[in-house]
Amino acid sequence: MKTEPQVLIYDTTLRDGTQGEGISFSVSSKLRLTEKLDQFGIDFIEGGWPGSNPRDMAYFEKAQHLRLKHAKVAAFGSTRRANIKAQDDPQLQLLLEAETPVVTIFGKSWLLHVEEVLRTTPDENLRMIEESVRFLVQEGREVIYDAEHFYDGYSDNPEYANKTIAAALQGGAVYIALCDTNGGRLVQDIKEITAGVIDGFPQAKIGVHCHNDSGVGVAVSLAGVEAGAIMVQGTFNGFGERIGNANLTSIIPNLVLKMGVSLSCGKSQENLRDLSGCVGDGGRRGPVGKAP
Ligand SMILES: [Zn+2]
Repeated sequence: MKTEPQVLIYDTTLRDGTQGEGISFSVSSKLRLTEKLDQFGIDFIEGGWPGSNPRDMAYFEKAQHLRLKHAKVAAFGSTRRANIKAQDDPQLQLLLEAETPVVTIFGKSWLLHVEEVLRTTPDENLRMIEESVRFLVQEGREVIYDAEHFYDGYSDNPEYANKTIAAALQGGAVYIALCDTNGGRLVQDIKEITAGVIDGFPQAKIGVHCHNDSGVGVAVSLAGVEAGAIMVQGTFNGFGERIGNANLTSIIPNLVLKMGVSLSCGKSQENLRDLSGCVGDGGRRGPVGKAP
């Protein structure tokens, strides 16, 4: 009998990881790494941001033909622009053209960013979230909503931050990932705020997406799981912008070996070192499990 994993692992090495200084994967490297991540037992593989560069679109065209055993490939993008219909947003159209089973979109949780960056109203931001999610769901996609700068937004105005989550759920998002986009929060903050959100939305499937700017990307991700998160987003080797993303190479064995959490990749621990090397090598190494 197959036991359901308690926590899902969402890899964003091929998208957020490539924001790192000097990190660049060719289309063929990305395809090879997708297969390796799938073999390892990763649940979701965020392949790129269609529309951000031609390489990512070329990847998605080819990724559709990969025969993956387990992982679902996700395309990443943002909610629609202000004051237009979701179906008229060229960026949402590109997300559909990526033909992935999963689409992950990010939106604003922090009023400061709604007003200063989007330059729109709090209500329009909520509509942008709900309508973008609903549009993608109606087009048959499983939608993950990444709540950008969630922990900072929540600290500033928890009521509004919660409304953005409610909007994404109303639109039909299957998972909500709470993001510490600047990587500035410590363990206690992540634990308390994640637990607070789960308390407020007991039916929702909540994940965490953390960065390592404070040097605690792994610790805060584990704290999120302790608080009840059922998805962890991160990158292999902690690749990513600035100091990097939460490092799955450490998070995965910590969850499995020290916290006793069941993962789809739980039985692949002996291949972890090789996978980490493959990612560092841009996917050029041989099959997972064989010494290079
Ligand atoms: Zn990120």
